[in-house]
Amino acid sequence: MVSELEKTVLGEIWSSNEAYETLIHLCDEFGSRFAGTEGEKPSAEYIASKLREYGLENVALDDFKYVGWKRGEAKLELLEPRNVEIYTQSLALCPPTPTEGIEGDVVYLGPGFPELFEAKKDEIHGKIVLCTSQPRPSGAMVHRRTKYGYAVKYGAVGFIFVNHNPGQLMPTGSLRPAYRMAGEIPGIGVSWETGSNLIRMLDKGLASVRITTSDIVTPDTESWNVVGEIPGTDLKDRVILVGAHFEGHDIAVGALDDGSGAVVIMEAARALAKHQGEFRRTIRFVCFSAEEIGVTGSTCYAAKHSDELDRIDLMINCDGAGRATDHVYRVYGPDSLAGYLQDLAGRMHYNMRVGRAMAASSDHWPFYMQGIPAVSLSGYRSPAEVARVGRGWTHTSADTIDKVVPKNLKDAAMVLAHSLIHLANEPGTIAERTPVEEIVRRLEESGMADTLRVQLKWHPDSIR
Ligand SMILES: [Zn+2]
Repeated sequence: MVSELEKTVLGEIWSSNEAYETLIHLCDEFGSRFAGTEGEKPSAEYIASKLREYGLENVALDDFKYVGWKRGEAKLELLEPRNVEIYTQSLALCPPTPTEGIEGDVVYLGPGFPELFEAKKDEIHGKIVLCTSQPRPSGAMVHRRTKYGYAVKYGAVGFIFVNHNPGQLMPTGSLRPAYRMAGEIPGIGVSWETGSNLIRMLDKGLASVRITTSDIVTPDTESWNVVGEIPGTDLKDRVILVGAHFEGHDIAVGALDDGSGAVVIMEAARALAKHQGEFRRTIRFVCFSAEEIGVTGSTCYAAKHSDELDRIDLMINCDGAGRATDHVYRVYGPDSLAGYLQDLAGRMHYNMRVGRAMAASSDHWPFYMQGIPAVSLSGYRSPAEVARVGRGWTHTSADTIDKVVPKNLKDAAMVLAHSLIHLANEPGTIAERTPVEEIVRRLEESGMADTLRVQLKWHPDSIR
């Protein structure tokens, strides 16, 4: 039986263009919204004003402090075999070098997988590591922060990250978690065309380079997550937390990553808020900031609100929602949640993909680490596609509105809203919490804990 509530909510989303229009406004009016930029706070205030207009309650900007970063000029000069200046930009949280720059021979680590670092670890000390963003052939991504972490661990003095996708697009991405620190050694991004040229020179013999960066690191910078709620009825103390980060990287407007996800959750909030009083649990929407600099907004949110976390029955992270035609729920834990969502897909008459995942690089992570059942909702891409293009347009200057398909935003908002109608009214337990000790044990066993240690993101006790 499909309820009148389901029909009305889904019809409301299907017949509206609000998500796409909000996305255009966010990108055109506020630019990247990247933490520390001029557009960040006005965009947060705009999102809050929209949530109020939609009828959400307890709408607020929720502040936190982090290690801020502002892009400066970056220069890469090839010194040997001949002097050439190479087009580059800093990676987020790159520290400034001394004015004369830092010099070193280049060591090439291919796609920079951990085993490649282990194999060459004796050749890295005092050198500048060059590696690409290429994922594994299986479609598994090895995070840039892992590659950078290994470079630092083995004594590199610089890090050059090559976009493996052609098109003269320089990659960006953060080097360290900004709730803790900036990078220790300079890290810069170059396009595939530039990078492959460097790699050819290395093949011919020694290449040495000079890196000069002038980025600014600003400890104790303030940022804001945007929060709004649809209060529940008899189970109002139980919360379903729906999140998506609203900022992009500073070199683009972040229309895909993650303006799309932010407007998807806002659209679900708009359609559902008209029916306040028909949901047993409270649905809390959070548009996170500073996700792009080490999952910082959500990590700080979880730390700041640690006393409320036991009220959260489920965290749904929508980073990547609305970016593709098909949608997938990826379950972090517990196992029973995958079965529950598969069953829910059946109840929704929607042949949705439900998979398992283990990745620390988005806003579900700090909640998963606290034992809260956590899942991501995102656009589905096949492992073959991920193996080929990795992040694709995102984390480059090409993450712009023209890449967004309005219907995909609607579809994702409908899947989310439809799920929330069921989840908020679930009479039983959605999924059991996992004791933190159990999560720590699993992360140690799977090797994930080592990856997080290399990234300096291992903090089961305290985030700072
Ligand atoms: Zn993202």
